[in-house]
Amino acid sequence: MGLADILKKPGELLGDMVQVAQLDSVIHWGQSYSLWPYPFATACCGIEFMGTACSDNDISRFGSERPSFSPRQADMILVLGTVTYKMAPVLRQIYDQLSEPKYVISVGACASSGGMFDTYGVVQGIDRFLPVDIYIPGCPPRPEAILDALVKLQKKVMTQGLEDRRQEVMRKIEEINEKNKPMIVR
Ligand code: SF4
Repeated sequence: MGLADILKKPGELLGDMVQVAQLDSVIHWGQSYSLWPYPFATACCGIEFMGTACSDNDISRFGSERPSFSPRQADMILVLGTVTYKMAPVLRQIYDQLSEPKYVISVGACASSGGMFDTYGVVQGIDRFLPVDIYIPGCPPRPEAILDALVKLQKKVMTQGLEDRRQEVMRKIEEINEKNKPMIVR
């Protein structure tokens, strides 16, 4: 059978070998299985991330085995540990340098709420200056919890369009700005 015959009836001849998809969904599928992390590790939760990357848990099954220490080549930032007020502007600058679309995972009690460190020097939750996508509870969270968060983020990346993503980040940044307004006492 010649090429002309195949072109006349492509579906019939190629059957299940051919699938039709929108370009967007192919791009989102590719993105969701290549989410490169920027691990911002300041304390013990960082060790749990190392455990997540090791062979027992093997984060490479989800395509995220390549940690990037340059924000330009990372898709998501994992905040692992306590963040002080002195460190917060540095973390915010690193977040700003990630290319869009970018995501934030808050790993453990310290990053999410300050944890046990209810002191004047510790930020009581990174959502005071970053638009967080997923919070992982625990002190420390187990590697399975980090993998669970990764799978949840993959689902989000796969289903959320770019415009929806932009709107969500804008809304969260507005909330942060509202929370950080100086208090006026009369
Ligand atoms: S949440 Fe617990 S394990 Fe994680 S950085 Fe804080 S004290 Fe360490």
